[in-house]
Amino acid sequence: MSLSQKAESIASEFVLSDDDVRKCSKQFIFELGEGLKHVVPTVCQIPTYVTKVARGTEKGVSLAVDLGGTNLRVCSVELKGDTKWTAKHAKRVIPPETMTGSNGAELFHLIAHEIDQFFQLHHRDTLQKLRQSKDVLPLGFTFSYPAYQTSINSGILLRWTKGFDIPDVINKDVCQLLQVAIDDFNLPVEVTALVNDALGALMFRAYTLPLSQTRTSVGAIFGTGTNGVYLEKLSNITKALGTHDDSTGEMFISSEWGSFDNGLLVQPNTKYDMKVDQSSINPGNQMFEKRVSGMFQGELLRVALNELYADPDACLFRGVQWDDPAQGEGPAPFFTRWAIDTSLLSIAAAENAQELTALSEALVKTLRIPANHVSADDVRAVKTIADAIGKRAARLAGMAIGSALIKGGRITVDRNILPVTRVTEDFSGVEAVDIAVDGSVVELYPGFERYMREVWRVIDGIGPAGEKMIKMGVAKDGSSIGAAIIALIVANGRASHTA
Ligand code: BGC
Ligand code: MG
Repeated sequence: MSLSQKAESIASEFVLSDDDVRKCSKQFIFELGEGLKHVVPTVCQIPTYVTKVARGTEKGVSLAVDLGGTNLRVCSVELKGDTKWTAKHAKRVIPPETMTGSNGAELFHLIAHEIDQFFQLHHRDTLQKLRQSKDVLPLGFTFSYPAYQTSINSGILLRWTKGFDIPDVINKDVCQLLQVAIDDFNLPVEVTALVNDALGALMFRAYTLPLSQTRTSVGAIFGTGTNGVYLEKLSNITKALGTHDDSTGEMFISSEWGSFDNGLLVQPNTKYDMKVDQSSINPGNQMFEKRVSGMFQGELLRVALNELYADPDACLFRGVQWDDPAQGEGPAPFFTRWAIDTSLLSIAAAENAQELTALSEALVKTLRIPANHVSADDVRAVKTIADAIGKRAARLAGMAIGSALIKGGRITVDRNILPVTRVTEDFSGVEAVDIAVDGSVVELYPGFERYMREVWRVIDGIGPAGEKMIKMGVAKDGSSIGAAIIALIVANGRASHTA
């Protein structure tokens, strides 16, 4: 087979047909339902104890700390009460040795240390005043890992995902661990709410949308990892729930859909997927995440390109010498796990197949291959495979969001919208159902939304009419601010109860 034929053949393994999508969606809705009945190890449907969206009228000051897949962020937020807000931020990369080589005490010490530094840098005066008045600031803990909640301010870590692996935190309450570490620094801060990043993003968007517009009912992250939260009827949640507000009859549920179909009943599974899974920290787990999120798409591409390279007829990177000093020091990135970042797929998708200059440059740089060994045909072959991986991810993402919308009853068969959503003024006069998304993949991958919309149009229960009602917006870096908003709402609610 020629290079382009072989590339096409690999790409075809990543095709997810409309029928595949419908099959996945059925299974997805089934798994969402099961998770509401039993405590399951996969799509674990974590109750969030958040029962309504922010209105945009909330006022006050609160904090958030956000432990993500890559960064640790601290922020303070002031809500002005008119959908407006101001925030101060600090951010640092989480050292790899903390992610896998440390223990819980070290991790939470690091987080509390960041909060302490943040006060020193931005809020020395506030700190003094709080200490004098013996008041505390509410803090929302954005935690982007599955922690099972029995209340708004507790959560037992079920498993680590993405790159984290700190075994002694598993089965512990991460809020308590954080509070203990904060208290060691003698900071006037109370961990008031545990918030998954998908819920944080949703809450941030809800706060910033004027009340007259649609209310957001689904939040999704497609970044290093992936997850979605959606609003579910309390009457459908038949497994045990802790004390909760039942005035709205609904509660946001964090699905942990990254573990959808871990048994691979319906999901696509290529030999590249299997290789990526085997070399991951958690083989057999997060099987949906491993096809969709940013941590894995670049690695899928690298593994698939290795297959292409192994075919002598294809002649990928013809004549390249991997031990050529021009390659630079160390092992060749082409054969090194995780060496290709998912941003390379975005670069590929952004270019048309005739030009490919940016992709060519990115390949030379990423793989450290001398430019004279990267032909136009090579670059085209890379684009063919990269596009197939990216498109499959986007279609699976659309399947997940669409299925959550259907499960939450946001789009009913007769295309009516449930009352939680409101008539929008700026959405061509139609009622809309609103989705908040965040994460590098959905933000930066060209065509991600277009591919998702294609899927919504063919899913049973949405269709072309339903697809038009779906409004989606990026809540950029919203998960921290959203958690601060939730913490403030909880604290204000308590204050009004005791007043
Ligand atoms: C985690 C989720 C998180 C998602 C997005 C997944 O790996 O399990 O809790 O929301 O990543 O960050
Ligand atoms: Mg994040």
